[in-house]
Amino acid sequence: MEKFNYSHVQRYFLFDSSNMTAYIKNQIMGVRDQKISLINRTMNTMKRNCNIEYISLGEIDQIGASCHYLRLGDWGLLLDAGADPHGKERSGYPRYDLIAGEPVNAIIITHAHLDHLGSLPVAIRYFPHARIYMTPATAALSEIMLFHYLKVQEKKARQNLKKFEPPYLSEEVEHLLYMFQSFDYEFPFKIHGFQESEIDITFWDAGHILGSAGVEIRWRGRRFFYTGNTKKSSQFILKGARYPGNSEILLTEATYGDNEEASHIKKQTEVKRFGNFISECLNFGGAVLIPVFALGRTQEIMMLLNRLIGRNQVPAVPVYLTGMGIQINRIYDRLLHKIYPQYDARLLRTITADTLQSKNFRKPSIVVSTSGMMMPNTLSFEIAGEFMQDPRNGIALVGWADPETPGGSLRAGKVEKIKEVFGIDRVLSRIETFYFSAHSHRQDLLRMIEHINPKKTMLCHGERNALEWMKKKLQELNLGGKVIIPEKERKITLPG
Ligand SMILES: [Zn+2]
Repeated sequence: MEKFNYSHVQRYFLFDSSNMTAYIKNQIMGVRDQKISLINRTMNTMKRNCNIEYISLGEIDQIGASCHYLRLGDWGLLLDAGADPHGKERSGYPRYDLIAGEPVNAIIITHAHLDHLGSLPVAIRYFPHARIYMTPATAALSEIMLFHYLKVQEKKARQNLKKFEPPYLSEEVEHLLYMFQSFDYEFPFKIHGFQESEIDITFWDAGHILGSAGVEIRWRGRRFFYTGNTKKSSQFILKGARYPGNSEILLTEATYGDNEEASHIKKQTEVKRFGNFISECLNFGGAVLIPVFALGRTQEIMMLLNRLIGRNQVPAVPVYLTGMGIQINRIYDRLLHKIYPQYDARLLRTITADTLQSKNFRKPSIVVSTSGMMMPNTLSFEIAGEFMQDPRNGIALVGWADPETPGGSLRAGKVEKIKEVFGIDRVLSRIETFYFSAHSHRQDLLRMIEHINPKKTMLCHGERNALEWMKKKLQELNLGGKVIIPEKERKITLPG
């Protein structure tokens, strides 16, 4: 047996010992470096993945189609899918094509007004796998609103004698209804795709219309809050918004940012003035037209009339309600007491309501009618033209109207323009404007931002002057952290 040569081993060992030490050292250092680089890479990835990317696909500095896209790591959310109901056909839709290659796992609808909902069927064509989240009341109202939108588009096309090209089909709306997932206020839920995400959502009462929600988004330690449309103080039915404090990033509407007057108006004074105006017209034997949006304003005004008549502050005359407002009243009565247990579920039904087509229509009376902006060929437009011929009549303007619409012309009060727009020779009736908004005035917006106390505030849903005023004021008061007016269709990265 060959004798084992230890010296060789020894030598070998001795020979290699320094190299071996260096080798081991290198190995250890290498592993350490690899670990450090892995940690750095992971940290960078985590850092990148904690970034929130934002892009507005709809309008920012005007009231039109609202739609915001958020990219949270591998997940994507759409906040609202609005249409501009008065826009020129399809040009009023958000630019979904801009994010065609991006993930969209969920579409969150804040409320059922068309400027936040109207293009949802179009969005689903682009992102068929997205889940749709909203409150139960918004789900109920969305059905009516989407079918109504189709009808209006059809009517418009017929009036223009064009071949009707529907923005989407009624079958698409029917299919969509099955995709709604609804959650109550202050009930957190997770966004799901094929897997569960790390995104937690909570709806908060926005106080704007029935079912309207502010959306709180929590993701990897970050908190993003989108107000939707919001009213901080109470209306005649709805209580004011109830939002959580301390979100890191806030995306807020600023509709009344440039309206100084609105902040000084006292609700009770306005109610009294409104009651007096109606009473005076009725006492002269006239009728009063109140043009309103079917969803929200109609119900609030009906409730106010109910109270004023109940307290004998307005004579008990018939109240005529036209159009879609009747359907929406039923949903308010059915669902409101679930949100506000003290709400009498029959309140809106107790008002004498009839249609103008009825043979029983008589004066003195009150007519609550759509459209709120008195668009041509709507009932409020036609009734206004007729009512303006009689000095005993009155028209009470109670909501916002785009200056370019007939309602806007009435608000501006320029007689020649009114005659031209409504195609009439004389304006004899009384016309008064009242402030009963479903949006927060600017002082309330500032208070809300103070409460939410964000590090970054992004402003949207307001005319350019409104956004600029809010930005300036927030900076002056040192509120809202860094204030941004996003540019439409331009990506913003919000680093984590
Ligand atoms: Zn709204």
